[in-house]
Amino acid sequence: MAYQPELIGGHVALDLLNTVSWRLDPTRIVDRIATPEALAIWTAAVGLGTEPAPYERVAAVREVVYDVVLPVARGMGPGDLHELQRLLVAAMGRATPTALQPLDWPGVDPVDELVLAAGRLLEREDLSRLRECQDGDCGWLFLDRSKNASRRWCSSGDCGNRARAKRHYQRTRIGSEA
Ligand SMILES: [Zn+2]
Repeated sequence: MAYQPELIGGHVALDLLNTVSWRLDPTRIVDRIATPEALAIWTAAVGLGTEPAPYERVAAVREVVYDVVLPVARGMGPGDLHELQRLLVAAMGRATPTALQPLDWPGVDPVDELVLAAGRLLEREDLSRLRECQDGDCGWLFLDRSKNASRRWCSSGDCGNRARAKRHYQRTRIGSEA
């Protein structure tokens, strides 16, 4: 079946990180955009057009951004910013501003656009809302835009359901042992 991206991050830079599934389980980790077809489906889905993006550059940006953002989601300061800074400076060096107030500064290609999007995530979004899915293996990140900041799962249909099923199983098992 063709790849169907789940864009649950609330920001394209987070959706990029979420192209890796089961990141925290080395036996199950999957890179969803590892084929050119899947990568093209993903870039189109997030509005980056149909221009082919070089997988190696996309994957490298993804890991740099993950290393910066993950500690923030876990309530620590940002990770090492040097590599992201290097990518941002290069992408900005190639970009041409297209509008003012607000300044619109699109990347020259999909990879640069992802780098600049990561910069915008860190500059403009409320990072106190940045969360990691509570599933122990999932590893997906998202901006919790719920009113009372109570979102715990990447998707209540996937990880949330699994957690509910697990709790139910534990309850019924405890019940039967009693
Ligand atoms: Zn999850």
